Amino acid sequence: MDNVCSHCSAHMWKHEIHKGSLNLNAKFSTCCSQGKITIPALLTPPETLKTLLTENTTRAKYFRQNIRAFNSSLAFSSLGVKEDILKSRGPYTFRISGSVYHRIGQLFPEPGKAPKFAQIYIYDTDNELANRLLWNSDLDEDILTDLQTVMHECNPFVHTFKHAADVMKTNENFQLILTSDTTKDSRRYNLPTSSEISVILPGTNTTEPSKRDIVLYCRSTNHPEGHNIIHINETHSKYDSLHYVLLFPFGEDGWHIDIKHNDNKRKVSAMEFYSYRLMQRSDFNIILKSGRLFHQYIVDQFAKIEQERLNYCLYHQHELRSELYQGLSDAINSGDVDGATVGKKIILPSSFTGSPRCMHQFYQDAMSIVRKFGKPDVFITFTCNPNWPEIKNALLGNQTPADRLDLTARVFHLKLKNLLNDIVQQQIFGKNIGTCIYS
Ligand SMILES: [Zn+2]
Repeated sequence: MDNVCSHCSAHMWKHEIHKGSLNLNAKFSTCCSQGKITIPALLTPPETLKTLLTENTTRAKYFRQNIRAFNSSLAFSSLGVKEDILKSRGPYTFRISGSVYHRIGQLFPEPGKAPKFAQIYIYDTDNELANRLLWNSDLDEDILTDLQTVMHECNPFVHTFKHAADVMKTNENFQLILTSDTTKDSRRYNLPTSSEISVILPGTNTTEPSKRDIVLYCRSTNHPEGHNIIHINETHSKYDSLHYVLLFPFGEDGWHIDIKHNDNKRKVSAMEFYSYRLMQRSDFNIILKSGRLFHQYIVDQFAKIEQERLNYCLYHQHELRSELYQGLSDAINSGDVDGATVGKKIILPSSFTGSPRCMHQFYQDAMSIVRKFGKPDVFITFTCNPNWPEIKNALLGNQTPADRLDLTARVFHLKLKNLLNDIVQQQIFGKNIGTCIYS
């Protein structure tokens, strides 16, 4: 990682330079889309948290081993997901199936039930630590106390919920709105204050909040539709910081739909935002140091990026008209001749990686090449070696390759491109083997 992006100062490998840019003024696409994006850096975490993430003591190692449980214990929102637990040996892997939801409950717990997540910051605050340990009794009490103090000192959501608790002492008939709108320029300011992220309004039906706002009531009976749990919209600017409290102890903004490119013409996509965020720069990047929580974070963000791409397909169906014709013929070919159902389906185009049309297109391409050039001569399986020096040299502190999936993925991709270049351009297997299919 000897190269530094001239725009965002990300540390990059030489082979990641954007084609056509000069070495003296190297441009990279993966980090900041060649200087088109600027996102404020995350603040250096409080010393207590930084020590636990970096030191090599038994206490710090225990924390890193259980960082997901500590985060969950202090989070305001819960993660709703079906986790696939791998029983085989090997490095820690976080796998999910199905949809991912971030959920937040009403301010008061259900009658007879213990408070959890955001409710712990409001209800029965004299026994805050004991209430946390009810859900995770195995956690080290000493570390949890320290982290709870950090949250009280610097997290703006704690101040918001404490204020709500004060109001609740005299009046339970109010709405707590966690706003999604950001008034400041998202390219310069990242640190919200308590008054910017929330509004407390008297009454239970006083305003028409934005669809993305999170509106909380004291009890589910106050909710217009009687809901106890609310799903947080993934385009809400606090979607990440309400759950990943140990990664964003100051409540920094995650991706939302109002962040713009530097030229103000286009909006920053979720993929662009998180690519920028995951790059290694000279400052302390808490996300890259968080081990198992980093695994969960990147899987969660990938689900968000995929959801954004699916939403694009959903809302741009008319622009995928040629695919719709295909959908019509697909339906008739499969025996679905009921006119009422044809045309109501959502079409996933072949450009959506992993969709049936994409796989079908790959298959047809592969068969066309076999028809023209004959059967394959060489079948290569190319796997990643976590001990490659490029990966080991880029690790931070006492990390292992299993802690840095971003590095292994990037190095694997670079080496795969080199292999393809060797086969197709350099023709290392001979002139007759110059066409290849890979997946
Ligand atoms: Zn850059």
